[in-house]
Amino acid sequence: MKISEQLKRNEVTISCELFPPKKGSELAKAHEVVREMARLKPAYISVTYGASGGTSEHTVDMANEVQNVNGITALAHLTCASSDREKIQQVLKELKENKIENILALRGDTPDDLDFPLPNQYHHASELIEEIRKFGDFCIGGACYPEGHPEALTIEADIDYLKRKVEAGCEFLTTQMFFDNNVMYNFLYRILKKGIDVPVIAGIMPVTNAKQIQRMVSLSGAVLPQRFRAIVERFADDAVALSQAGIAYATDQIIDLIANGVNHVHIYTMNKPHVAGAILDNLSEIYKREE
Ligand code: FAD
Repeated sequence: MKISEQLKRNEVTISCELFPPKKGSELAKAHEVVREMARLKPAYISVTYGASGGTSEHTVDMANEVQNVNGITALAHLTCASSDREKIQQVLKELKENKIENILALRGDTPDDLDFPLPNQYHHASELIEEIRKFGDFCIGGACYPEGHPEALTIEADIDYLKRKVEAGCEFLTTQMFFDNNVMYNFLYRILKKGIDVPVIAGIMPVTNAKQIQRMVSLSGAVLPQRFRAIVERFADDAVALSQAGIAYATDQIIDLIANGVNHVHIYTMNKPHVAGAILDNLSEIYKREE
């Protein structure tokens, strides 16, 4: 099913995320993670493409596993910073052959060791979106940054470029992680003022491990509110307690979002079905899934 159709209904949706394994030999284990995640019946499962040092090789395979083996709508990420135009065409063809209808079109992080963009590459996600639209009949999503993309000179400029992305054919947006919901509410107000009215899915990262935090913050530029920092400081040396507190914090953020009319939430589950499961259990009466 196209995600744009899911989002049109006036219902809460909660989705999850997976990243593909680095080696083909790890695929069987990764398929088990897909099965566990699918049992939770999220609205859809997204599969990253070469994010955070991972690989892009198995994205189509994992999306196929999500959708065609486990019956959950798949959203395949696709980035243009690490691929030339031919590679993009090839992946689009493979997605079509596997009946994957939803793509999150991204630029990706620019490689340090290469001149970017090479002549045969797309510069920005908006160009990739145009290309996917020309290819035909995909539901296309894009990324947005409530605290501004780290390379953007100002949030306003970032939102102007975001508008181009939507005009190019992006039908929904997923946010970068944020830990303070007021940042999200402020962002929604600002983009609406600029005429961006596609559905925005709130990206929530449950922080369940102390090492993860520094890395995540440096990658995303997200600001950590005092309430969140206090939790990390208090429980940093007790992994189980930190995980419990991280799940509670994410649950609390999601309840507040839904209570304030943000109906669509994407959990950055980082291949941890038990974390996604714990959050969904906490929300069992708020997000009712079909049996
Ligand atoms: P763009 O929309 O191209 O924007 C990048 C920067 O360029 C911004 O600063 C923007 O303001 C600016 N800009 C945009 N258009 C123009 C223009 N026409 N002229 C001048 N400047 C412009 N990375 C991965 O490698 N794999 C993944 O699977 C992945 N999944 C992600 C999922 C989500 C929900 C999010 C939020 C991020 C994800 N990322 C992933 C990270 C993402 O690729 C990086 O944040 C990347 O740096 C920007 O990608 P983008 O698609 O937002 O780029």
